[in-house]
Amino acid sequence: LTERLKATFKKISGKGRINQSDLDNAMREIRTALLEADVSLKVTRQITRRVSDEALGAHVLDSITPDQQIIKIVDDELIKVMGDEASELNKSKHIPTIVLMVGLQGAGKTTAVGKLARRLVKENNARPLLIAADVYRPAAIDQLKTLGETLKVPVYDEGTDVDPVEIVKNGLDLARKNNNDYVFIDTAGRLTIDEQLMDELKKIKELSQPTEILLVVDAMTGQTAVDVANDFNDALGITGVVLTKLDGDTRGGAALSIRYDTGVPIKFVGTGEKLSDLDVFYPDRMASRILGMGDILSLVDKAQEQYNEQQAQELARKIQENNFDLDDFIEQMDQVQQMGPMDELVKMIPGLSDMPGAANIQFGDKDFAHMRAIVSSMTQEERMNADVLTPKRRRRIAAGSGRDVMEVNRLIKQYKQTSTLMNKMQKGNMGAMDQMFAG
Ligand code: GDP
Ligand code: MG
Repeated sequence: LTERLKATFKKISGKGRINQSDLDNAMREIRTALLEADVSLKVTRQITRRVSDEALGAHVLDSITPDQQIIKIVDDELIKVMGDEASELNKSKHIPTIVLMVGLQGAGKTTAVGKLARRLVKENNARPLLIAADVYRPAAIDQLKTLGETLKVPVYDEGTDVDPVEIVKNGLDLARKNNNDYVFIDTAGRLTIDEQLMDELKKIKELSQPTEILLVVDAMTGQTAVDVANDFNDALGITGVVLTKLDGDTRGGAALSIRYDTGVPIKFVGTGEKLSDLDVFYPDRMASRILGMGDILSLVDKAQEQYNEQQAQELARKIQENNFDLDDFIEQMDQVQQMGPMDELVKMIPGLSDMPGAANIQFGDKDFAHMRAIVSSMTQEERMNADVLTPKRRRRIAAGSGRDVMEVNRLIKQYKQTSTLMNKMQKGNMGAMDQMFAG
């Protein structure tokens, strides 16, 4: 390795990289945390295995420990498994959007109907109709009617002596007549899964062709919640999950296992008995809750911010010195990948986004690996001065890196564009740059 490369490498590695013993230590702690949060053994194993592969060799940021870095990597993985972002209620093309609520008895179905209806009325001025299709317990119908009165939302019921499939049919007719935009079908539950109940739900599904089949599960039931989700999903094909009773002391690992097993998104969480106690499901908040290590995660976030700032300052210095060579280019692209897309950075600088070439400095992961290979095949002289890259040299580099000569040409062009861009930034916008990097 050249001195220069060595120095670069040392800088990138900073504190060092995650080794096997770091991993073993941290994973023991993380496995316990996941199991205690009610994540299933199977999912815990798969997550820790997957994360271990990814974490080994990863860069540890300054000012935090390998343990903390690993916890951050696990957190990112949990967020990824749970779906990256909040997902809303699906809407049907034509009104009404029909939402079929299913789940075991006591899970919180009827309460969730009330909460969802309230939310839609409040936020979308919606005009929902609630259908009382739980005919096995008279109290269930009264409960829904009371909710309807509170919310000033109509409830359709036919008492307890009618086939629920019939009730749903008549209820839907009424909704179409009255132009209701949403229909919630509140169904019966049992204490455990049972054939008869599933058959009834299948018939209601067949008849109503719901846009959403929301499974309501009690987070407090832990592993059982996961089994219930699998069974309902196999029988009915659920489209979303409402996880209730998260106001209890459960860490909510069921959310992770359910999503992992069924692939169905958790859409809402219940956080209390009141009608306002409903939240959209946020994977990042849930991940942090499941791990129970929020303090560490915010520490790592701070370290990441600091690191990004250092990198940005380093870049600013290079630009000012006007010696941005191909090694810097590759290093910069590596950092850009960690920092987020370059166009975000470009957008922050007034006037720059209009310059030609500004939009061309973005690359995918795979492209980047290829670019790195190409630059590795260049001599020191070529990296420091792209002007010497004659067609003959370009062919040699292409052969050496196993890439196409067109790709080599493209990289050099991208480097030159970036370099020009950097020059312009230096000449025209240093004030803006200083401002940006100071923040
Ligand atoms: P269903 O049988 O599935 O319709 O369940 P219900 O909606 O009747 O709810 C059963 C019980 O759980 C009721 O006492 C609700 O008040 C309570 N419940 C529902 N959701 C929540 C929640 O998010 N948190 C808490 N603490 N209680 C809830
Ligand atoms: Mg009910």
